[in-house]
Amino acid sequence: MKASAFSYARATSVVNALELLVAQGDKAKVLSGGQSLMPAMNLRLISPELIVDIGEIAELRGIAVKGDVLKIGALTRHVDIQESPEIAAHAPLLTDAVAHVAHPAIRNRGTLGGSLAHADPASELPACMVALNATIVISGQAGERRIAAEDFFKGIYETDLSAQELLVAVELPVKRKNSVHFFFEFARRHGDYAIAGLAAQAVVQGDVFADLRMAFFAVGDRPVLARAATKLIDVAVTPAVLSDALTALGEELDPHDDQQASASMRGHLAKVLMARGVSALLGRLDLSAGGPV
Ligand SMILES: Cc1cc2nc3c(=O)[nH]c(=O)nc-3n(C[C@H](O)[C@H](O)[C@H](O)COP(=O)(O)OP(=O)(O)OC[C@H]3O[C@@H](n4cnc5c(N)ncnc54)[C@H](O)[C@@H]3O)c2cc1C
Repeated sequence: MKASAFSYARATSVVNALELLVAQGDKAKVLSGGQSLMPAMNLRLISPELIVDIGEIAELRGIAVKGDVLKIGALTRHVDIQESPEIAAHAPLLTDAVAHVAHPAIRNRGTLGGSLAHADPASELPACMVALNATIVISGQAGERRIAAEDFFKGIYETDLSAQELLVAVELPVKRKNSVHFFFEFARRHGDYAIAGLAAQAVVQGDVFADLRMAFFAVGDRPVLARAATKLIDVAVTPAVLSDALTALGEELDPHDDQQASASMRGHLAKVLMARGVSALLGRLDLSAGGPV
């Protein structure tokens, strides 16, 4: 199928893009890498009247470290994340995760901003942003605002962005001392959207978690920062403590059924992921459930 007829404008700056979006009300759509937008238009799931192409806006590009903050521009492509030495050094969770996003052809075009704005609950990068405690930077006609990633995702394909705003960048706290990460997803084939996945970031002191953020994806309508993981912080993690956290996780998650997996299978996989994540982060094979990753 082909998309309905639409007008096209190439924005020259963030200000220009915002003017174009405001002028068109809810009938305009931002075009970034086009890897989710164009299929949706071709299937006529959406029929915007105007496409605002932001692909040439230089101020939306770039990866930079300033003090304790790693800033990544919205137009950073998945392949740029994969190849960035700054990201590998300061947010290696992202380097691991992005290798699971689709395939090279899509990673060559798809962007970080597009993935976050699209907010597919089975996507890897939104969960990483939640695990890494990222701040999402948004521009609108009233100026710039910042929102925690945890509050940015509102539901399936739903975020805090209005139709007249642009996601311009994300800001991540740089990797702390004794910081470790874990990423794993269950998918039918490498590169497919996940059936269940976990992005986690922790600070380990001795044998104990001083901090632990576990963001599950594909098991709810948005990335879920597991409250159950707080049961594992500042305590000696025994099998009984882990079992308690796994029970709490099961009560907290509300997975869905679809053609790929039942809700109960997703719930089970999330528990396997939590146990494997804790085991890997602490280097404790005795805590792993379902065998090593
Ligand atoms: C076959 C296939 C497999 C895929 N597999 C995966 C996968 O396994 N995991 C995964 O995470 N993704 C996957 N994707 C999606 C891919 O990662 C997309 O690149 C991504 O979801 C959207 O990024 P984009 O830059 O292409 O955005 P676009 O398609 O251009 O835009 C997506 C949406 O975000 C809006 N938007 C884009 N940029 C901005 C911005 N800066 N500010 C405000 N709104 C904006 C657009 O208006 C649109 O609504 C797959 C895609 C395909 C085609």
